[in-house]
Amino acid sequence: ALSDRLSRIVKEMRGQARITESNVTDMLREVRMALLEADVALPVVRDFIARVKEKALGQEVVGSLTPGQALVAIVHRELAATMGEGVADINLAAQPPAVILMAGLQGAGKTTTTAKLAKHLIEKRKKKVLTVSGDVYRPAAIEQLKTVTAQAGAEWFPSTPDQKPVDIARAAIDHARKHYFDVLLVDTAGRLAIDEALMREIQELHAVLKPVETLFVVDAMQGQDAINTAKAFKDALPLTGIVLTKLDGDSRGGAALSVRQITGAPIKFAGVSEKIDGLEVFDADRHAQRVLGMGDILALVEQVTAGVDMAAAQKLAAKVKSGQGFDLNDFLDQLRQMKQMGGLSSLMDKLPAAMAAKAGEVDMSRAEKDIKRKEGIICSMTLSERRKPEIIKATRKRRIAAGAGVQVQEVNRLLKEFEQMQDMMKKMKGGGMMKMMKRMGG
Ligand code: GDP
Ligand code: MG
Repeated sequence: ALSDRLSRIVKEMRGQARITESNVTDMLREVRMALLEADVALPVVRDFIARVKEKALGQEVVGSLTPGQALVAIVHRELAATMGEGVADINLAAQPPAVILMAGLQGAGKTTTTAKLAKHLIEKRKKKVLTVSGDVYRPAAIEQLKTVTAQAGAEWFPSTPDQKPVDIARAAIDHARKHYFDVLLVDTAGRLAIDEALMREIQELHAVLKPVETLFVVDAMQGQDAINTAKAFKDALPLTGIVLTKLDGDSRGGAALSVRQITGAPIKFAGVSEKIDGLEVFDADRHAQRVLGMGDILALVEQVTAGVDMAAAQKLAAKVKSGQGFDLNDFLDQLRQMKQMGGLSSLMDKLPAAMAAKAGEVDMSRAEKDIKRKEGIICSMTLSERRKPEIIKATRKRRIAAGAGVQVQEVNRLLKEFEQMQDMMKKMKGGGMMKMMKRMGG
C-alpha cells in the first residue's frame, strides 16, 4: 500500500543528514509510484516530481526529522500548494443575477451539484436562487433538477425538451431579473465522452449567459482519464472553478491534481455524498494527505518541524559538545520545547488511531499540567540556583516551593529528574551517545 511505500522511504533514509542527488532519486521513485497509484495522470506526475526534486535537493533536514520524513513533508506541502491556495468560494460579483454555468461529462454530478450549490448559497450566503436545466436531450434530467431543487429550497425555472438551450437560457435570465433572483444556476447536458456538438452548444450557452462562474464538474473516480476531459473543457470554456465529486468513494482522488494542473482553475468544492448537503469547501491540505495515503502522520511531521526551536536545540547541542555543564536553564528550555510542539494532547490527536490508543493509557492532560508545574518551579529559582543546582538546600527548597505553590517533595522530584538528565548528557559528551545506543542493542 501507499503508506507502506512512504514509511519505507522514511525508514531507509534514517541516518542520512541531508537530501542529496543520490538518495533523492530512490525516494522520488517511490513518490512517483505513490502518485500513479492514486491515479494522478503521468505527465502531471512528471512535472510534479521535477518540482519536488528542485525544492528538496540540498535542503537541510530540520530537527528530529530524517531526510525521508523531510522529503515526505516537502511532497505534502507541494501537493497542497498545487491543488489550491487558500479557500476559494463562489464568486458572485456580478450584476444580479450572478450566473453560474455547470459543465462536465454525463454522470459527473452536475445536476446533483447544482442543487447542492443552491442550498449552499441560500444557507451560507443568504441568496435567492433560481435553477434551470439546459439538458434537453433527456426529459428525465429536467425532472431530476426540479426534484433536487425543491429539496434545496430553491426555485426551479421550467424548460422542455423541444426548446433550444440558448432560448431556455435567455428566458431564465429574464425571469431571474424580473423576480430579483441573486443567482441563476444553469445545469447542462453532458455526454459520455467528449463530443464536438456538445462543446459547441455549451460555448453558445456561455456566450449568451456571460456567467461569472463556469464550473467544471468532475468525478474523482475518473482517474487517468480526467486529464483528457479536463483538457477538452478547458479548451472550450474559460473555466473559473472545479467541483470534484464522489470523494466519498474509495478513490485516492489523484484526479484533483491532474485537473487542477491542466485547467489552472481552483478546486472550489468537493462532493462527498449523493445527498443534498454532501458538499464541502475543498480543503487542499487535507486532500494532499488523502492522495498520499498518509492520514494524519503528515500533520504530525509538520507540527514537529514547526515546533522545534532550532536555535535553542543547536545551542544545547553546542553546549553538550563543548563539555559545558547542562544546567537547570537548559532543562527549562527542554520543557518549553515540549510545550511548543503544540501541546502533548494536540500531538496525540494527530497520531494514527492504533498508536494513539496505546499512548492513550498515559493521561496527556496530566502530563501537560506536569510540565507547567515544573516550569513554575524552575522559574521560582534564582539565576545562580539554576546554574548551580547543588546549592539548593532545605531553606532554598522551601522558598522555591512556596514561590511555585507546590510541596517541597515536588521540588525534590524535579531536582532528581534534572540530575538524571544531566547524567545522561555527560555520557553523551565524549562519544558516549554511540556507546549508549550500542548498549541499548541499537
Ligand atoms: P450529471 O449527469 O452530471 O448531471 O450527474 P448527476 O448529478 O445526475 O449524478 C450522477 C450520479 O452520481 C447520481 O447517481 C448522483 O447521485 C451521484 N453523485 C453525484 N455527486 C455525488 C457525490 O458527491 N457522491 C456520491 N456518492 N454520488 C454522487
Ligand atoms: Mg444531469
